[in-house]
Amino acid sequence: MDNPFEILPEESAPQGLQHCERCELSKQRTRVIWGEGNPDASLLMILDNPGAREDRQGNSFLCGTRETLRRGMREAGLDTGSVYVTYLLKCSPIRAYNKPEARKACLPHLQMQLLEKRPLVLFGFGNIVAEALFPWKENASVKELRGSWHEFQGIPIGFTYHPLAVRRRPNLMKFFVNDLIALKDKWNGVQREGQ
Ligand code: SF4
Repeated sequence: MDNPFEILPEESAPQGLQHCERCELSKQRTRVIWGEGNPDASLLMILDNPGAREDRQGNSFLCGTRETLRRGMREAGLDTGSVYVTYLLKCSPIRAYNKPEARKACLPHLQMQLLEKRPLVLFGFGNIVAEALFPWKENASVKELRGSWHEFQGIPIGFTYHPLAVRRRPNLMKFFVNDLIALKDKWNGVQREGQ
């Protein structure tokens, strides 16, 4: 069984994007965080933005988001070593910023990752990711989107609560784990279809 408290290895941002200045978060961050986990995984998870790990470079620790995510994955029977986790925004905000501008500026990075990695299944966490990926849906939210499969860039995508929401409201954990089990089933199904 994988260790729920492991720190997943980071994947560096591509050359030319390590010092991205497309939005004002470039003035707040210490570095661009491209993603972590298995870079060749066919399951790609999307969080809103990197957290406190950024300021602990060289002294990594498991933040609340990652710990809850790992816990949910473990309970759902998903191996943390076989997924890739990335972010809508690749820089960690530390103070207020223009959110629509930052999302618009950073979305092409995610789109580029999807084109390069060609994952079979996507999974988004929290309302911010839902809103950013489905701007044409009025008030897109996890509550509305979870429980069924949608499509982004031609790839099936499901949603669940943000791990921090689950941390704040432990009664959500059972729904979180059920959503991750549904994800595992979908992922297994898509892999079988491709064989
Ligand atoms: S959040 Fe994205 S667009 Fe903005 S500076 Fe960071 S990498 Fe660039």
